[in-house]
Amino acid sequence: MTLTRREFAKLSALGLAARFAPSLFAQPAERQTGYAIIGLGRIAAIFMSGVRASTNSKVTALVSGHRDKALRIAADYGVPESSIYSYEDFDKIVANKAVDAVYVALPNSMHAEYAIRAAKAGKHVICEKPMAISVAECERMIAACKSAGVKLMIAYRCHYETTNLKAVSLIRSGAIGQLQAIETAFGFNERAGEWRLDKKLSGGGPLVDVGIYSLNAARYLTGEEPVSFAAFTSNIDHDGRFTSVEENLSWTMKFPSGIVASCATTYGGQMVGFFKVHGADGWIDANPAFNYDGLHLRAEYSGTVIDEPNPARNPYQFTTQAEHFSNCIQNNLEPKTPGEEGLRDMRYIAEIYRAAGISL
Ligand code: NDP
Repeated sequence: MTLTRREFAKLSALGLAARFAPSLFAQPAERQTGYAIIGLGRIAAIFMSGVRASTNSKVTALVSGHRDKALRIAADYGVPESSIYSYEDFDKIVANKAVDAVYVALPNSMHAEYAIRAAKAGKHVICEKPMAISVAECERMIAACKSAGVKLMIAYRCHYETTNLKAVSLIRSGAIGQLQAIETAFGFNERAGEWRLDKKLSGGGPLVDVGIYSLNAARYLTGEEPVSFAAFTSNIDHDGRFTSVEENLSWTMKFPSGIVASCATTYGGQMVGFFKVHGADGWIDANPAFNYDGLHLRAEYSGTVIDEPNPARNPYQFTTQAEHFSNCIQNNLEPKTPGEEGLRDMRYIAEIYRAAGISL
């Protein structure tokens, strides 16, 4: 990850430079964790560029249904042709010593199969969110990784992102006092024909795809687990895109302390990802909060005013995320967002859908 001195000075002002210092100034680590990328789509491209900017990780294999695309990417990343696999011959990866871990970047309904096949091949697994499309699949993924003795991390990139971390650290320091309420949303206008609109591939609509950011954020901001749920769904669209998954979903979750989170997601309109946290002594607002870059934190409490645009640029979140997982692999540490974290969200997603009258 590279930052200008000015950007680094801003991170210092945020009190976050130390967190980044090793990746900013260290020489490349002696050990580079090798990743096989499974599914060469949009997020895989960003993840790979994040890995390229890291100190301790590299792309060493590709798994794709399109060999021509894989060959182009292999040339760019210095991956040998012999380390390109199809979905059918993926299991041969067991013999590839350059691959320590796989990154699963497939449509959601394929996550469980490839995570489990990777674990059986003795490879550590970092899997995109949502972890899978059912609680049972998540449990099978965790069991497969445990029995193979490999690590499993869910790619919740906001846990490795400075604006989100700063919001959490302000809340934990007591700056805004006892939390009372959270508002959060994330959504976009999805194009017809995308696999995300087909429940067989996606497992659900905007809730599992982008609403999950609000769900997960409400949990890491409060540090609590939600105990009750209410939800409404609606299909307003008239062009036939939403025959398989919901278009809009709004839900509320109540936490044990009494904090209520009001959340919304959509595939039918532009909904910038944000959260606003209301406390007894002030508020914190991250808007945008979930984009790849350009995040912005504002807060007011006890005479303090914060107005901090985040200068870090895409793919910084993917670099810190990959560095974290590689570090866990190299030093036998538990990832901050293990499979159990993805499983918890999947259980809450099932509760939210149940409250909305939809079965997962
Ligand atoms: P894309 O459609 O861009 O890429 C998915 C890739 O999966 C395809 O390019 C293809 O790769 C492979 N694939 C295999 N079978 C199919 C199939 N039947 N239909 C479509 N693709 C298939 O998706 P995204 O990259 O946007 O999303 C992939 C995963 O990443 C999802 O789980 C999503 O939720 C998650 N995601 C996470 C984000 C984050 O910020 N953390 C952001 C965006 C997505 P090939 O041609 O090589 O076979």
